[in-house]
Amino acid sequence: MSAAEAVRGRLVRRGDADYEEARIGRVFNARKPDRYPAAILEVADADDVVAGVRLAIEHGWDVSVRSGGHSWAAWSVRDDALLLDLGSLRSIEYDDATGIVAAGPATMGALELAPFLAERGRAFPGGHCATVGIGGYLLQGGQGWNGRAQGWACESVVAVDVVTADGEHVRADAGQNADLYWAARGAGPGFPGIVTRFHLQTYALPEAMWHDTWTFRLDDAEAVIGWLHRVLPTLDRRVEPVMAATRLPDVPLYDGVEHPGGTVLLLHATCMAGSEEEARNLLAGLGDCPVAGRELGRATGPTTVADESIAQTAQNPEGYRYAVDCAWTDAPAEVLAPLLLDIWRELDTEHSFSIWYGWAPARALPDMAFSIEGNVYVATYLIYPDAADDGMYRERVHSRTAAIARAGGVGVYLGDTDFTARQDRFLSPEHYARLEEIRARRDPAGRISGYLTADREGLNIHA
Ligand SMILES: Cc1cc2nc3c(=O)[nH]c(=O)nc-3n(C[C@H](O)[C@H](O)[C@H](O)COP(=O)(O)OP(=O)(O)OC[C@H]3O[C@@H](n4cnc5c(N)ncnc54)[C@H](O)[C@@H]3O)c2cc1C
Repeated sequence: MSAAEAVRGRLVRRGDADYEEARIGRVFNARKPDRYPAAILEVADADDVVAGVRLAIEHGWDVSVRSGGHSWAAWSVRDDALLLDLGSLRSIEYDDATGIVAAGPATMGALELAPFLAERGRAFPGGHCATVGIGGYLLQGGQGWNGRAQGWACESVVAVDVVTADGEHVRADAGQNADLYWAARGAGPGFPGIVTRFHLQTYALPEAMWHDTWTFRLDDAEAVIGWLHRVLPTLDRRVEPVMAATRLPDVPLYDGVEHPGGTVLLLHATCMAGSEEEARNLLAGLGDCPVAGRELGRATGPTTVADESIAQTAQNPEGYRYAVDCAWTDAPAEVLAPLLLDIWRELDTEHSFSIWYGWAPARALPDMAFSIEGNVYVATYLIYPDAADDGMYRERVHSRTAAIARAGGVGVYLGDTDFTARQDRFLSPEHYARLEEIRARRDPAGRISGYLTADREGLNIHA
């Protein structure tokens, strides 16, 4: 049987009627790439991934991969490659004895995995946005709910089922194929294989999730950032403080206070704890705000991952074009605040937003590829409808973020990058070198497409 005959999923070739839909229909960002795969295989099941890799070998094609389709830069869409679309791999199985859940890579973390686990009294740190696929999310790290306490979601990956670049289906964990297991936790699109299933350690569902949300004027940004930098290292890790410069009108406002129009600051702190009282007490760490009294509104109360996902979806609507960049920074508040204000004052569309996400204090990471983080994560999402604005918004987001990177930046989180426009370090130099060795050994022909970059030599360099 030829490799093409062994394939059971739908194979769509360039020139076929459904080619465009298969190429970009599942790419979240409406700014679709001008890259054209030789063919797309919508795999029928995990074994079909093996057949797909053999088909690619037979044709001399590279292999690119799509799970949830949420990469901002559409890493899955590569010229002349065979795109393996894993959209059908969404089974979820839970083992009560071990608390381990096995899930297909296209499973949506908040929309599918979280409710499945909640019914069983369990939880896993899925992405903040409901529809992100766990495939790309876990491979690059995974910044999920309760991340300051629970760590990167990939720290809870106990094993992966992988189709290697030569078409073998293997299990990788701490005891077997340990190099692939190490790489699967942080390599992102540089992972030299295709994950067909993740085995994830789950946790007891927290008894309570609570939020404390403040709305400030942009004019108070410097004071609020200064206070957050002071208080962050003392906050219990179960408190997750995120400040967003947002233009959404639906923010907490006191009775009689009018939305000033345009951009406001939304400080949204969430906390998962053993009881509501404990959550409230932990959030009290944010109680001594120096500009308290100047806020436009404040709301505090119970919340759920499902409610939070609805809010995230409102902020990240489908059908829009996105230009996105990020930086980890150790810069002090007085250096960072003016640079953030440069971005925040320029936000000019309904949905565009930009976040300050408190991550400190530093903690030791387990031995895995993922290896760069800083005190604060900043990311900017410029969201707009019109293709004519691509150039302007891309230039703006990458040049403004580059200024932050130059002033105390320590690198980037792969999840919010576009290396065709701006590159920075995403792994420590030692881990990058180790990953390159693993890639050279596991995929000597370079069949798996890997990082999408404008400058391969400049990859992982922090200027
Ligand atoms: C609206 C939105 C919200 C987001 N929120 C968060 C968030 O809260 N936290 C966070 O950490 N990130 C977040 N992200 C970023 C997101 O996690 C990354 O873009 C991630 O890569 C998406 O995974 P995916 O499987 O959906 O993407 P895809 O585009 O399908 O995959 C991205 C790339 O990862 C690799 N890959 C994916 N699956 C596999 C696999 N099974 N085997 C081998 N390689 C694979 C491939 O190189 C692929 O091209 C968000 C993105 C969007 C669009």
